[in-house]
Amino acid sequence: MTRSRRFALSKYLNMEKELIKTSDNRIDIKSLTLPELTECIKDMNEPAFRAKQLYEWMHIKQVASYDEMTNIPKSLKGKCRELFSYTSLDAVEVQESRLDDTKKFLFALSDGNVIESVFMKYRFGVSVCISSQVGCRMGCRFCASTLDGVVRNLLPSEMLDQIYSIARYTGEKIGRVVVMGSGEPLDNYDNLLRFIELLTDENGMNLSQRSLTVSTCGIVPNIYRLADEKLSINLALSLHASNDDKRKELMPIANTYTIEQVLDACRAYFDKTGRQLTFEYSLVKEVNDTDSDARELIELLSGMNAVVNLIPVNPIKERDFKPTDRSAAEAFQKKLEKSHINATIRREMGRDIDGACGQLRRRRLLEEKRSAD
Ligand code: SAH
Repeated sequence: MTRSRRFALSKYLNMEKELIKTSDNRIDIKSLTLPELTECIKDMNEPAFRAKQLYEWMHIKQVASYDEMTNIPKSLKGKCRELFSYTSLDAVEVQESRLDDTKKFLFALSDGNVIESVFMKYRFGVSVCISSQVGCRMGCRFCASTLDGVVRNLLPSEMLDQIYSIARYTGEKIGRVVVMGSGEPLDNYDNLLRFIELLTDENGMNLSQRSLTVSTCGIVPNIYRLADEKLSINLALSLHASNDDKRKELMPIANTYTIEQVLDACRAYFDKTGRQLTFEYSLVKEVNDTDSDARELIELLSGMNAVVNLIPVNPIKERDFKPTDRSAAEAFQKKLEKSHINATIRREMGRDIDGACGQLRRRRLLEEKRSAD
């Protein structure tokens, strides 16, 4: 930290609480709750209503910089620049599908890392899929996001601004958010919770908690923690196999928690929140799509209030996994439905762009590496 910055901090803030900082050691203003921002603004000897104005510019009008905040005096903007960094993601690449309205965004973070997010337009509204970490350390075998491990957690502001930037770029009202991009959200628990608080804050974007889904590979203790947070967000669990041996082959996390432990946690989540559960099941040809897989899956999930989302695996070139073909996926779905288990086959969106989780970012990293070599 430079001397002048240390001076600036002590000049303005007497807060005891440790606030989230960005890599340049300034406070991350877009990760502050309204009460925290109000405390900061009062410490800066500014009237409290300025906090509300700043918060509205960030979370309702969702502007890209302090420059656009027309009712904030120049002197306060100066102080804000000194003390707070302003997370605003730059789209360095946008891939637009010609088959549907899917758009894939590659965003640059202020430290030079890149992440990806997806915009999807359905008949019933607009959804955004966001990343929760740079990379991932869960190691799922079919997933491109995890091939190089995790680089760092995303800040709450960096999760939020994927949504705000996409809303700015497309001009669309975002109706649903899914945390199903790169990263394991329950491996970035505290930032995820703060992100949810900000996103669903009635003073901010005010997304309904029911319109938010968090997808996890199954970090059991954190599913229980989430169940106790008194939220009404949806939980999606990446199951991908119907017995522990097969799950271990696809997902290293299965060495830590058994399917039974994961399903117990999901049942507890449902009991506490009443929210329907989704199980994601990526269909890999001749690996987890056989008759006996369907039978075991039915046995596991019978009696649970759940939907199974079947996703023919999106092949990545680093691995030799092939997707189950359409007719076999439909037959698998029918078997589940016959046993009264709701199942859908995920519509393939944006098949002509780098669709699978982490593929766009990975291509970019490889290109950068090649040009550096
Ligand atoms: N870590 C979280 C969220 C990110 S992945 C989780 O595991 O749920 C979002 C979903 O996409 C997960 O179900 C994941 O297993 C799945 N996925 C990742 N790569 C995939 C691929 N190549 N094909 C199909 N599904 C994939």
